[in-house]
Amino acid sequence: MPVTTEDVVRWITRVAAVLHENRGYLTQLDSPIGDADHGINLDRGFQAVMDKLPTVANMDIGSILKMVGTTLVSTVGGAAGPLYGTAFLRAGMATSGKNELYEADVVSMLEAALEGIKARGKAQPGEKTMLDALTPAIAAMKEVEQQHGSMAQLLQRGSDAAETGMKATIPLRATKGRASYLGARSIGHQDPGATSSWLILKSLAETCAQKSR
Ligand code: ADP
Ligand code: MG
Repeated sequence: MPVTTEDVVRWITRVAAVLHENRGYLTQLDSPIGDADHGINLDRGFQAVMDKLPTVANMDIGSILKMVGTTLVSTVGGAAGPLYGTAFLRAGMATSGKNELYEADVVSMLEAALEGIKARGKAQPGEKTMLDALTPAIAAMKEVEQQHGSMAQLLQRGSDAAETGMKATIPLRATKGRASYLGARSIGHQDPGATSSWLILKSLAETCAQKSR
């Protein structure tokens, strides 16, 4: 079953709600290895996205995702704003003019988002960032797609791999972003950006699972 424009609107709406609910948690994760603003930043950005969502809800998927990207770039401070902003902008470019996304389209959309984050942040997996959740998630989704698995399986496997990747950031030493200033003291803490990335992918899986039930 493809992901439709309506699904994308429901996904973004769910992301805004989930980030709002997890605002305190994400900010708490950003306290020992950052400046305690990750949840606040993302909640502010996605509330601004929600304000604009009705103006693009009838457009194609690419236009909706580009709006998310430009809004995040302009309203979210810190590292995460420009990084997630670029991710959604690239995802929007990859889905330009589309009203339905099949399994291969979802993989290309997320690969484009990942490339955007890498181009902007110059990080690689293993540096204790959002890439440590996103990279294994997208690899897992690509595998399901190549084996002709269903959309629900693809999204669930991606969400599960993001969760595993997020937990695997705990023993890592940060070498990018604010957490890198702590050096070895960044070890033992879960990365806030990897956590928000998992929440974003989990929201996508849940949005589509609800539909196929
Ligand atoms: P800031 O660190 O500027 O306060 P946030 O707290 O909103 O910004 O976001 C911090 C998160 O951003 C980190 O947990 C990490 O996952 C992510 N991050 C930081 N730098 C990079 C980078 N160069 N590439 C990818 N992700 C990064
Ligand atoms: Mg921060």
